[in-house]
Amino acid sequence: MELSILTLCYLVGSVTFIIGLKMLSNPSTARNGNLLAAAGMGIAIIGTIFLYEEDGKRLGNYPWIFGGILIGGVIGTLAARRVKMTAMPEMVSMFNGMGGACAALISAVEFDHLYKNYKGDDLFGLSEYVAAGHYLTIIAGAIIGTVSFAGSMIAWGKLSGKIKDMSFRGQHIVNLLMLALVLVAAVMSYQYQTTYAHLLFYATVALSLVYGIMFVMPIGGADMPVVISLLNSFTGVAAACGGFLYNNKVMLTGGILVGAAGTLLTILMCKAMNRSLKNVLIGSFGGGAAASGAKKDQGAYKEITLSDTAVVMSYANKVMIVPGYGLAVAQAQHACHELEKLLESKGVEVKYAIHPVAGRMPGHMNVLLAEADVSYDKLLEMEHANDEFPTTDVVLILGANDVVNPAAKTDPSSPIYGMPILDVELAKNVIVNKRSMKPGYAGIENDLFFQPKTSMLFGDAKKVLQDLIGEIKNL
Ligand code: NDP
Repeated sequence: MELSILTLCYLVGSVTFIIGLKMLSNPSTARNGNLLAAAGMGIAIIGTIFLYEEDGKRLGNYPWIFGGILIGGVIGTLAARRVKMTAMPEMVSMFNGMGGACAALISAVEFDHLYKNYKGDDLFGLSEYVAAGHYLTIIAGAIIGTVSFAGSMIAWGKLSGKIKDMSFRGQHIVNLLMLALVLVAAVMSYQYQTTYAHLLFYATVALSLVYGIMFVMPIGGADMPVVISLLNSFTGVAAACGGFLYNNKVMLTGGILVGAAGTLLTILMCKAMNRSLKNVLIGSFGGGAAASGAKKDQGAYKEITLSDTAVVMSYANKVMIVPGYGLAVAQAQHACHELEKLLESKGVEVKYAIHPVAGRMPGHMNVLLAEADVSYDKLLEMEHANDEFPTTDVVLILGANDVVNPAAKTDPSSPIYGMPILDVELAKNVIVNKRSMKPGYAGIENDLFFQPKTSMLFGDAKKVLQDLIGEIKNL
């Protein structure tokens, strides 16, 4: 009876993961999807703690289990509550690394069980006693989980500015050799005399740790969100190995879903930036070399005052706001929503044009604007927004740069050439708010700022929006 209740818990857990994931694909259902999947995970965990039995014995160890849950729960809750929106990729990276470490620890524990059973001083390896498939799940979980842990920690360090990009000539060859060493050590830990299996297993883990660090180290700091998504899929696969090991369906489903979702997200992000995964992994994109080559003399740009902006916007029929990374940095989403409501009260139609990779993580702008209660119906996806620009009077760009750079369409030598962008120049007027003429993420200049229709409105997005609201109210 209890086994069947536990099986039911796992079934409920698996189904909630799938439904929750589906709900995450729409901003209006994402929050509930997250809660649903978390509830399913809770049921699976509680079920395992109280109902799982092996040889007629329950898990026990309750103080350890609940002590761990309490410590992890408090740290996780505090971290998630305090994190700033712009630091979200860092937190995801840290949590992902913890997932990888857990998967690797599961493998280490299971290896230890094998080792205790079969260690000896004979000439046989573990291959004499343990089925290849079983050992493969242990060692694969250890390698993939460790790589994911080490890589995620480096990604976290880079995103938080604690670790600088580091690469040297031939690093990719060294990395490949390193990976080969990991695999050789892994095979030896299975084949070589059991006396040394322990040593070889931990050598595999140590080499995987070094490989994880070296794998992420040369990748451009700005490419970290794509790398995190890739590492996330690694963690999923490592967790799925644990699912195989324990014949635990919910762990298997969860791991496979994370692995598949992470892989799809990585592909989608690369596609939205028009870059191959190979280019992300060895391209050192953002800042540096790719950036400096693009500097050229584009002539003068024109500035607009706050009062003129207030007039142009108040007397427009249709305004399109283009949010970008700078809006998140300035935390100006609430001021932006206030401006939208103010303009609407004056009879102006206001919509938002959302580029799929605006900001620094997928869905960044959707989440940011949802935080300020901007209605989902007002958010236009890129294709729809591009259809509406020709009938738009004013485009107000708030802290966006690359996602409106026409070089993506016109300059084959540009690192962002081919990336789909928002065709803001089709509107009658374009007003760009940013703090300076500095480039964005890709490190390249933007011709849009020098076009006759464009006016620059310099300043921090939050301050500018607050002052603009004041000006419009005084009209
Ligand atoms: P960009 O990084 O291209 O530009 C952001 C601009 O915001 C900067 O030029 C900066 O100019 C300005 N800015 C910064 N702080 C403020 C502030 N406080 N107030 C006003 N402006 C500010 O951002 P986009 O959103 O246009 O493009 C995103 C880029 O990130 C793309 O290249 C995309 O490929 C990349 N990317 C996106 C990922 C995603 O999943 N979303 C993942 C990985 C990469 P200034 O300093 O002069 O103020």
